[in-house]
Amino acid sequence: MEQNIVIIGGGPAGYTAAIYSARAILEPLVLAGYSSGGQLMTTTEVENYPGFPQGILGPDLMDNMKVQAERFGAKIIYKDATKVDFSKKPFEITYEDEMAKAKAVIIATGAGPKKLGIESEKRLWGRGVSSCATCDGAFYKGKEVAVVGGGDSAMEEAIFLTRFANKVTLIHRREQFRASKIMIERAKKNPKIAFALNKTVAEIQGDGKVTGLALQDVKTGKSSNLKADGFFLAIGHIPTSDIFKGQIDRDAEGYILANAKTETNVPGVFACGDVVDHRFRQAVTAAGMGCMAAISAEKYLESIS
Ligand code: NAP
Repeated sequence: MEQNIVIIGGGPAGYTAAIYSARAILEPLVLAGYSSGGQLMTTTEVENYPGFPQGILGPDLMDNMKVQAERFGAKIIYKDATKVDFSKKPFEITYEDEMAKAKAVIIATGAGPKKLGIESEKRLWGRGVSSCATCDGAFYKGKEVAVVGGGDSAMEEAIFLTRFANKVTLIHRREQFRASKIMIERAKKNPKIAFALNKTVAEIQGDGKVTGLALQDVKTGKSSNLKADGFFLAIGHIPTSDIFKGQIDRDAEGYILANAKTETNVPGVFACGDVVDHRFRQAVTAAGMGCMAAISAEKYLESIS
């Protein structure tokens, strides 16, 4: 069956696009992916999403958005899109061994955690190395852990980990943080958080499980060791856009290029949320862009009918 709109991605951008296009009676099909809900599923309290003055848990916010989309008739499939063909009309979107055909596509695949790219990170991934404190923090009750990064995610993860760990060392490659003042203050006030500044992680130590880190001082070049039972990455994100390579214009970092109306270089294909946005990356901006993509797609469908 040919769909009006297939939405690829089930984070704030994808679900908001689904709410709007479902309310426009376009019966969108949402390929929300195995890890539907996006990055908010791995956070705790969201304090800055408007409309929730007491905050809301990330997974609850996503569940609300999903229920709201379903209420208006969006069909949600929890599978990953694995291949697209935008050279054909209708567009073809493969997910596992099935294929959907669509007049319009909204890409809202978001972003995933960036990695350091060192050998020991691969070897010890899931054996003490993680990018999700909310998922794995509880394993470190009474232990010592380290977090790398200098943005809001690093502060948030470090603060969250103090619920379990006795000591959390926040490692950052500079002296200034990219994080917001309120988060820096909270981290600095927390007696369980220590800071290792101007340091990079040269190696994650451990045989079978993490036991420590080899750090290097960026100013002096000196090496030092830090005891750690767990190591959390919070160094930013990379757009999830590999399946669109060769199908659509992307920048050098893999972000999909879209204009202010969320239009990509392929008429009928729209992109929104973290897969296009390397600047704001907020749940509310992703949701806003999802709304724009749905309205643009609706206008496009009108223009071709
Ligand atoms: P980010 O702001 O891009 O920060 C990434 C941090 O990792 C930077 O401090 C960067 O260092 C460091 N880094 C990057 N690559 C590195 C490498 N290879 N080795 C060592 N360090 C590296 O990413 P984020 O913290 O994930 O935040 C993303 C967005 O989400 C931001 O807009 C943030 O405000 C938002 N966010 C908000 C909240 C909240 O409001 N509670 C919580 C989480 C995230 P440099 O500074 O030296 O570049």
